[in-house]
Amino acid sequence: MNEKFTGIVLFIRPHREKDSLVKIFTHEYGTKMFFVRGLQSLNHPLKKHLIPLTEHEYLGTIHQQGLSFLKEGHTLNVFKSIQSDPFKQAHAAYLSQLIDASIEDNCADQELFQIFKQSLAIVDQREDARPIQLLLQLKLLQRFGVQLNWENCLVCGSSEGIMDFSMAHQGVLCQKHLEVDPNRMHLSQKQIKILQLFSHLNLSQLGHVDISDNTYRRINEVIFEIYHELVGIKLKGESYLNQLYKVADQLMPSKVKGS
Ligand SMILES: [Zn+2]
Repeated sequence: MNEKFTGIVLFIRPHREKDSLVKIFTHEYGTKMFFVRGLQSLNHPLKKHLIPLTEHEYLGTIHQQGLSFLKEGHTLNVFKSIQSDPFKQAHAAYLSQLIDASIEDNCADQELFQIFKQSLAIVDQREDARPIQLLLQLKLLQRFGVQLNWENCLVCGSSEGIMDFSMAHQGVLCQKHLEVDPNRMHLSQKQIKILQLFSHLNLSQLGHVDISDNTYRRINEVIFEIYHELVGIKLKGESYLNQLYKVADQLMPSKVKGS
């Protein structure tokens, strides 16, 4: 029986010579893999409804386990500037991989679907995708079972003065207790403040943020390290993003400098 549902395309993988497997985050059924016969041919009617990081309404056959099937599509959101801007596309692709990693397949999660959709809309509309990525990376940690304490020293509970982040203890240490972790991250107070701020923000509260490239770079390294060390994942999109920024830096040294 054909069902009507809404979904955002996560990725497409060629299957055999002419067919494809398409993973879609559906609003109604969670993330699911669809088998699309002949999708690799140029004029396949579903092609324009199966572009990664676009949202559509579909008609298809849903199977609780295994592969599902698509019959028709109707476009809802193409997020145009994500499709045309390589930086936005790289950020959105990374976020889609992170979202995909954070849930089980075939389990409806409408809250996460809304978060994903809203994030894509923000990446699409704004100049800089880095703030939304940082916000989501911090927000999704708890879905991987990681709860970091950015506010209070893990030894004495103090929230005053100089702080640093300890990966081993999964939280911050105050100046008196810095020696508890000889391998602490040596973050600046500005970097700590930004992490504290972003760990509390919701998507709808994200306003204009003025953060220098160097600060982003360091925070980014720390967040990726948290995902490697504490969550245990390294996503393909992460290496791609790093490469993209490296090349951009070489071609066009940034105007924004700072600590
Ligand atoms: Zn302390």
